[in-house]
Amino acid sequence: MRDTLVLNATYQPLATVSFRRALVLVLQEKAVVEDADPGRVVRAAALELPVPRVIRLLRYVRVPFRQRVAWSKRGVLQRDGRKCAYCGGRATTVDHVRPKSRGGADSWLNTVAACAADNQLKADRTPEEAGMRLLFEPYEPAGSRALVLAFGVTGAEQQAWFGEPVTA
Ligand SMILES: [Zn+2]
Repeated sequence: MRDTLVLNATYQPLATVSFRRALVLVLQEKAVVEDADPGRVVRAAALELPVPRVIRLLRYVRVPFRQRVAWSKRGVLQRDGRKCAYCGGRATTVDHVRPKSRGGADSWLNTVAACAADNQLKADRTPEEAGMRLLFEPYEPAGSRALVLAFGVTGAEQQAWFGEPVTA
């Protein structure tokens, strides 16, 4: 399945995203379909939708192409789909892999979503010291990921429409 091209409101190409993410933007009325694959439809929330090849954002988004997304706790929770990095349960907190008290940074690579219980259990220790394993490695959102985070389409929202978690 080919990715969908995202145009800014001014028709300037911004990035490509998966067609599912593109459709979430359309369903949220943040974008309109400019071009679709003829004869191909996908089901989402009991709707039959065209598979978009090109969508256009309705509001102009100032997203310099290679701009990094500023780190934020909210951003980390979104990036990790609100899943705890230690147990896979529902995360409501952000854990510093290398604790802040020991020089760990507020950065994408040093933080993961965590449930309150695991965050408390780990306390001021590294995962190794606490005998805890990360289920996934933290990463810095970039490219279309950064764009999607900027748009605010979360894994949970995508899951709500399509019943599938976000994949890269
Ligand atoms: Zn947990």
